[in-house]
Amino acid sequence: MTPLPKSAEVVVVGGGVIGASISLALAEAGAKPVLLEARAFGGAVTGGSLAAIGTHMHGREEFGILDYARDRWRELSDASQDGIEYTACGKMGFILTDAALAAGKTLVAQEKSQGARAELLMPEQAQQYERLLGGPILAMTYDPDTATVNPFHAVRALMLAARQAGAQLFENTPVARLLVEAGRVVGVETSTGERVSTPHAVLACGPWTTKLAADLDLNLPIEPRQAQCLASIRQPSGTLRQVISSCEAKGGVDSGYTQIQQSPSGQILFNTVTALAPTPKGAEDRVGEVQPGFVVDSVNTLLMLFPALKDLPILRSWVRFEAVTPDARFLAGPVPVPGLHVCAGDNGSGFCRAPLLAQFIADGVTGRQTLPVALQQRAAQLYDPLRFMDGQNV
Ligand SMILES: Cc1cc2nc3c(=O)[nH]c(=O)nc-3n(C[C@H](O)[C@H](O)[C@H](O)COP(=O)(O)OP(=O)(O)OC[C@H]3O[C@@H](n4cnc5c(N)ncnc54)[C@H](O)[C@@H]3O)c2cc1C
Repeated sequence: MTPLPKSAEVVVVGGGVIGASISLALAEAGAKPVLLEARAFGGAVTGGSLAAIGTHMHGREEFGILDYARDRWRELSDASQDGIEYTACGKMGFILTDAALAAGKTLVAQEKSQGARAELLMPEQAQQYERLLGGPILAMTYDPDTATVNPFHAVRALMLAARQAGAQLFENTPVARLLVEAGRVVGVETSTGERVSTPHAVLACGPWTTKLAADLDLNLPIEPRQAQCLASIRQPSGTLRQVISSCEAKGGVDSGYTQIQQSPSGQILFNTVTALAPTPKGAEDRVGEVQPGFVVDSVNTLLMLFPALKDLPILRSWVRFEAVTPDARFLAGPVPVPGLHVCAGDNGSGFCRAPLLAQFIADGVTGRQTLPVALQQRAAQLYDPLRFMDGQNV
C-alpha cells in the first residue's frame, strides 16, 4: 500500500463525485492534490445516484452553470471513450394540474430564452418520444439535451484522469481532524494519527462536512436528508427513453418529486418523494432503511405514468444521504479559516454541477482564472458559504 505523503499542496477530503471532480481540476491546474476518502470512492450518495445531467427544470439562476457543467461531462465522456456511459436521452416533466401547467410554461419559456431547446408537449406528442406513457397528463415539458452518466464509471474516470494528472488518491482513510496553527489550516490528521501538512484543505464530505468544520467552530447549515431509489430487473432496451420527472408548481424535492429512467443496463430506476420524512441526526452514519410509504408512492407514480409496467419486478432498493442547505444550493468557496474551502450541500443534484464547482474551487485554491468570468461571479454569488452567516459562525 502506498504510504500517505507527509505533505501536499492541497488535501481534498471526501471521494464522491464532488471530491473526485475537484481533485481532477486541481491536478489539471498543476496543484498535485492528495484526496483522502473515509470509505470507498463514490460509495456514499454518489454511488446511489441516478446521475442525470442537464439544465431542465433547475431554474434560470443556475442555467449557465449547468449548461457549462454538461459540456464538461461531454468532454469527460469523449476523453474516456464513453467509459462513463454518457447517454443524451432527454428529460420530460409530467404535468398533472393547472398550477403545474402554468409553472411548466414559465420554465420552458425561461429556458428557451437562455438558448435551451426546451418545449411544452401535449400528451400525444410526448408519446412519440415515450411510447408507453399514459396516465392523466395535461402536458409534458421536454428538453432533448439532458443526459445521464453511470455514477460508478464517472467517479472511476474522474479518479483515473486525476491520477494521470498528478493527484494521489487514498481510500479507507478517514480524516479525523483539521490541523490549525495561528488561525490557519496547516494540515489534516487521519483516524490512525497520520498527518499530512498542507496550506489548503477542501472539505467535500457531503453531509459529514459539518463535523470537521464544527471542530473549528464553523457551524455550516447542512443537514442530511434521506434519499432512496428502487430498481427493477432488466427490461428490453428502449422500454423508457427519457429521464421522467415531475414538474411541480412550487418546484424542488420539498413539494414532491419523481425521477424515473432506464439505465443502459436495462433496469428501470425510479423514486417518488411526496412527503419528506425528517432524517434523524446522525442517520448518515447508519445504513438507512427504505420506508414502506416511499415504495408505495413510487410504485403508484410509476404505474400511473406507465400502466404497461404493471408486472415490473423490483430487484433492489437503496438509501443514501444527501447534504441539504436552507436554500437548496451548494456551499462552495473559502470560509473564514484561511486555507480552508468547502464544497458541499448537493441538495440532491450534485452530478449536474460537479465539473463547474470543481473548477470554481480549483481556481479559488490556485488563484488561477480558468472559469469564464461571468460564471465565476455567478458561482461566487450563488454558492457563497458565508451567506447564512450569523455572528461568529458560518
Ligand atoms: C437516488 C438518488 C438520485 C440522484 N439523482 C441525481 C441526478 O439525477 N442528478 C444529479 O445531479 N444528482 C443526483 N443525485 C444527487 C447526487 O448523487 C449527489 O448530489 C452527489 O453524488 C453528491 O456528491 P458528493 O461528493 O458531494 O457526496 P458523497 O458522494 O456523499 O461524497 C462524500 C464523501 O465524503 C466521505 N467522507 C465523509 N467524511 C469523511 C472524512 N472525515 N474523511 C474522509 N472522507 C470523508 C464519504 O465517505 C463520502 O464518500 C441523486 C442522489 C440519489 C441518492
